Amino acid sequence: MILHVDMDAFFASIEQAINPRLKDKPLIVGSRGNKMRTVVCAASYAAKALGIHSGMPSREAFSICPKLEFVAADQAKYTWTSEQIFQLLKGYGLPLNYTSIDEFQLELASHPDPLNLAKKIKEQIYANFNITASVGIAKNWLLAKLASKLNKPDGITLIDDSNFEQVLRQTPLDKLCGLGGKIGASFMAGGLKSCWDLYLNLPGFFNTFDNAKAKNPQMALLSVNPEQGRRVNESYDNSGKPNESPKSISHSYTLPEAKINSRVIQAWIRLLSEMVATRLRQQNLISATVHLWLNGPEIGNFGAQKTHQVLTNDGYEIYQRTLKIMAKSRIQNPRIRAIGVTCSSLSRGTDQHLLREEIRREGLIKALDRINNRFGERSIYPAITVLTR
Ligand SMILES: [Mg+2]
Repeated sequence: MILHVDMDAFFASIEQAINPRLKDKPLIVGSRGNKMRTVVCAASYAAKALGIHSGMPSREAFSICPKLEFVAADQAKYTWTSEQIFQLLKGYGLPLNYTSIDEFQLELASHPDPLNLAKKIKEQIYANFNITASVGIAKNWLLAKLASKLNKPDGITLIDDSNFEQVLRQTPLDKLCGLGGKIGASFMAGGLKSCWDLYLNLPGFFNTFDNAKAKNPQMALLSVNPEQGRRVNESYDNSGKPNESPKSISHSYTLPEAKINSRVIQAWIRLLSEMVATRLRQQNLISATVHLWLNGPEIGNFGAQKTHQVLTNDGYEIYQRTLKIMAKSRIQNPRIRAIGVTCSSLSRGTDQHLLREEIRREGLIKALDRINNRFGERSIYPAITVLTR
């Protein structure tokens, strides 16, 4: 049995939870700050009711509802909340996978009362974060995920033998995870309309998600629908270990003299982050843990690290993570002589893309890599790193 937790309008709900003025209002979270020139990356339920949905240009959303509330996406906040929910679910002591920033799966094996467990989880999430989740329970991840969508928001749905046929008959094929794209369209063109039609034609399809692949739903999904543009790293479980060597990738630099200029220090950290990220991408690795090392006359050796649930090989993201480590260290403008950035907890794979903006960034990063491969490293580089020259 799989219990799939899917947060309801996650980004929008978080914004509403921390700002009661936004509660119950039509609200969109934009992937960028310019409210008329961005894309909706989350819509509150009041906005959804008006036909506004993620992926829609914000201009179009405002033309539907001129009084729409707008908040620019704050990914750090969403990632943090996601990590907290992950930790909370970990407390249940069951094998846990997270499949995206707002979806988590618990493997129940044979639980005596999964409905009650779902209720408890929902209550705990609501009590802690003031946001709701929908839960789906079924024999495999595909059906559990589908179940979680059937009574949104704030619902619990169990698919078992008693309602399997009824649910599949009522569910259009393109509602099934992974079948919204070209594969779904080709099935529909072939006359398959509902999930039940698919079951009648390919009865084994729903069982392919029962065992081994349930550990790795995104890969299973990709094998079902290679056209799906959203690549997600391998699932993350409690025993998750990096596949093979290398164990870590790092770059460091010793300045000619100890410097106190924080802009220059930041520029170096950015450059080292970019260099580490390039190495990660060259080896098709993504990293969960960022470690920052600083050395200076006042601070001696300072080292701290943080592990994130969302893995990355994006230099900018690594840089942001190191800055947060530095901010927490409460080092106030010390003189710095040497800097090191290390990424560890490595897995094979590519970056996760949670926001549309990040999908665009992947294209940008690929283009930058191509240019730098062709014309030499650092032919093109982030502006701040000029300070290192
Ligand atoms: Mg969700």
